[in-house]
Amino acid sequence: MDTFLKYAYFEHQFIPFEDAKLSVATHALHYGTAAFGGLRGIPNPQNPNEILLFRLERHCQRLSQSAKFLHHDLPADKIYQIIIDFVKKNKPNQSFYIRPLVYSSGLGIAPRLHNIEKNFLVYGLEMGEYLSPSGIKCRISSWYRQEDRSFPLRGKITGAYITSALAKTEAVESGFDEAILMNSQGKVCEATGMNIFMVRNGQIITPGFEQDILEGITRDSVLTLAKDLGITVVERPIDKTELFIADEVFLCGTAAKIAPVYQIENFKLSEERPIATKLREKLTAITQNEDPKYKDWVNVIPLD
Ligand code: PMP
Repeated sequence: MDTFLKYAYFEHQFIPFEDAKLSVATHALHYGTAAFGGLRGIPNPQNPNEILLFRLERHCQRLSQSAKFLHHDLPADKIYQIIIDFVKKNKPNQSFYIRPLVYSSGLGIAPRLHNIEKNFLVYGLEMGEYLSPSGIKCRISSWYRQEDRSFPLRGKITGAYITSALAKTEAVESGFDEAILMNSQGKVCEATGMNIFMVRNGQIITPGFEQDILEGITRDSVLTLAKDLGITVVERPIDKTELFIADEVFLCGTAAKIAPVYQIENFKLSEERPIATKLREKLTAITQNEDPKYKDWVNVIPLD
């Protein structure tokens, strides 16, 4: 059972989470005309009166871009300020996850983006580990990721997540933890809410933007960290069978952080994962603001 943070930002004000309710006729509920973000925060291990948020600017920028697909002008700096206020209002004392959502709030029949009221809300929940950091077992999904020509894949549009939901449930109901989806070209794309990386011969390889992936912020962070650690990074299409013989495979996302994969379908991967382990440790230190080199990625919010 999730523990929600006490206050939600809803219809331009902060109110108790339980009072933030929508009408049954809300357009976004019927047509998936909404877009969301997701970011993690923790109390500063060095100072409990401060909250640390990871890559807030970039998350706000991506949500603002997602809103554009919905024909809604929601500037990144406006989202930024509301999220800061949200954190100050809630004063979380555990590791948590913030879920901002822009949505067609009008009460309307007929799928459309024009002439319909839009709105913005934020709520949060306590969140520890989302997937086991010691390793997960993945299946190759029978569901394929949508194509950019029929869906704006650079936005986190809610309607798209039916594919993730189908894939995740298929995986879990058949005894796996997570699903890896191929794209319409039959190349490796991503997991249900995470980007994918593999390691072969000391190189880190991940599908590029043209492979219909989400422009993941953890992915971007991993690429930067790997380069800074002197590891060769290659963005290129990946075949399914390469995953089976890879030295390491790991998934990454805001909720999951870096989740190593120990099995894909019936192919076991090595228990030795030096690169995933190194990256995970590095990312953890950065999110705890312990690495001066990446201080720009961490917002320190004082809880006055
Ligand atoms: N792919 C999909 C489909 C996702 O939903 C997510 C989670 N937002 C990711 C990848 C990872 O993105 P990020 O690192 O920005 O959380």
